[in-house]
Amino acid sequence: MTEQRIALVTGANKGIGREVARQLAGRGMTVLLAARKPAAGRTAADELRTEGVEVHPIELDVTDPDGIAAAVKGVGDAYGRLDVLVNNAAITGAGSPPAEPDPARRVEPPSAADLDRVREVYETNVFGVIAVTNAFLPLLRRSDAARIVNVSSGVGSLHAMTDPAGPLAGMPPSLAYPTSKAALNAVTAQYAKEFRGSQLLINAADPGWTGTDLNGHAGPRSVAEGAAIIVRLATLPADGPSGGFFNDDGVVPW
Ligand code: NDP
Repeated sequence: MTEQRIALVTGANKGIGREVARQLAGRGMTVLLAARKPAAGRTAADELRTEGVEVHPIELDVTDPDGIAAAVKGVGDAYGRLDVLVNNAAITGAGSPPAEPDPARRVEPPSAADLDRVREVYETNVFGVIAVTNAFLPLLRRSDAARIVNVSSGVGSLHAMTDPAGPLAGMPPSLAYPTSKAALNAVTAQYAKEFRGSQLLINAADPGWTGTDLNGHAGPRSVAEGAAIIVRLATLPADGPSGGFFNDDGVVPW
């Protein structure tokens, strides 16, 4: 494709999403920096502009059907298609930034799960991704090389969850966030099945434990490191994988 590629990143006013927006713009894409709070999106875009990076803030709350429809109309009217969709927006259910800095004391065990909180997390992390993806599919179908990246997490890996000697063995059991990411992984696999053999490649990314508001800036990785695998999957060549789960080291077991 010779035309400038159009990319949209959800939840891009801060953290990993903002860095993904920055890096995609740095690769010459037209980047739509989507934020649920318009002022936060404008501030992020203004900050990037001071670094010489041009992005276009748009309003998009992934749990708001009317807002999603308005965003699709805006992108369609302005560009006529979408090439890259990064489903990055997510919540943990613990608040952002978390009031309780110790993750072990922040999460509820499954037996004490607050169902409303689980639903709230799924609304954003799972149903929000499905709603945004399906709404933008007509525009993605107009791309000759569409890429969707669902930003997942290593804590959503069933393999890691059930490995008694694995890196998650010391994590307290909890429901909302890890199971939402496991569901997102399954969602990714199902879309990949539908679009196999087409121009649309869809994959899940694990950015690794990155210091952001999501975890009270406890993660050791920089946002640049967290964004790297997402950017790689957003810029896959035509013969790239689809329906996979990847981190910086390669394939993550589901
Ligand atoms: P942040 O909390 O810094 O950013 C999350 C972003 O999502 C914010 O912009 C937030 O907006 C936005 N958001 C939340 N709900 C909605 C909504 N309903 N509609 C639109 N936007 C919304 O987190 P990270 O940057 O760390 O996380 C980015 C992604 O990376 C997430 O998918 C997360 O699960 C994943 N991830 C992060 C890891 C880490 O260690 N940080 C590890 C593994 C995965 P607002 O500012 O308005 O709240």
